[in-house]
Amino acid sequence: MLAVELALSAIAVIGQRPTPPRSGQPSVGVGAPQRLQVGDRTLVMTNLGGPQAQDLLTRIAADMGQAVHTVEAFWGTDWPHDVDVVATGSQRQFEERAGGGPAAQWADIAAIAVADHVDPHRRVALGQRIVFAPGASGMSESALRIVLTHELFHYAARADTAVDAPRWLTEGVADYVARPHTPVPDVAPPPTALPSDADLAAPGQQRSQAYDRAWLFALFVADTRGAPTLRALYRAACGDGHTDLSGAVNDVLGTDTAGAVADWQQWLTRQPAH
Ligand SMILES: [Zn+2]
Repeated sequence: MLAVELALSAIAVIGQRPTPPRSGQPSVGVGAPQRLQVGDRTLVMTNLGGPQAQDLLTRIAADMGQAVHTVEAFWGTDWPHDVDVVATGSQRQFEERAGGGPAAQWADIAAIAVADHVDPHRRVALGQRIVFAPGASGMSESALRIVLTHELFHYAARADTAVDAPRWLTEGVADYVARPHTPVPDVAPPPTALPSDADLAAPGQQRSQAYDRAWLFALFVADTRGAPTLRALYRAACGDGHTDLSGAVNDVLGTDTAGAVADWQQWLTRQPAH
């Protein structure tokens, strides 16, 4: 169980191929978006697939209240009240809605939060949506909750996130928010540098490990300095007009990059998993 959760990344690896809708099969719930009030937010759900996508949306709707609560507890409440969620019916449809590009990059991705236009200087994000791949239907309840919460964090933070923000940190923080606080996995070899965006680029196992490291760094910051400090680091390193990473680390953590890596290594060796 634990291994499964730890192997999951935000962009959780999908182990199951989606079942393509049979031609002529009637689509349930396809058409106008379905709106559902969740606390003081509105979940706007669009089903682009058939009954399978509808089932996924039903599960997402059931999990949304907790996901909103978790994101608000970390990030605050100042983010869009409408949350757009799209369930796609085919991998090709997912790729289109997720932003296109080479199909290979979407191969193991369960969901993604995207926007058509972002202007962090004016705190504007237009056309935001969380798009689920058809394969997300095969995820366990716990995995789906993690993916939903992770993507919802991106959704909440989007208007405060620079387009050139260090991606690994945005992913690490999203995973920190989304993952249950379970024991820390063994990391071998121990990190000798901060994670990088290049680490996240490779598909498959390498990407999954890169997400784990980014998550572990975020967890280290929150565990040793408190969640508000992690939020401050996100804003300093990823927000509008952000400084470079080493400057943000210095300003917020009060140490240089080498010092942060050394502290991180020490923290990892102190974890109960060792
Ligand atoms: Zn992400």
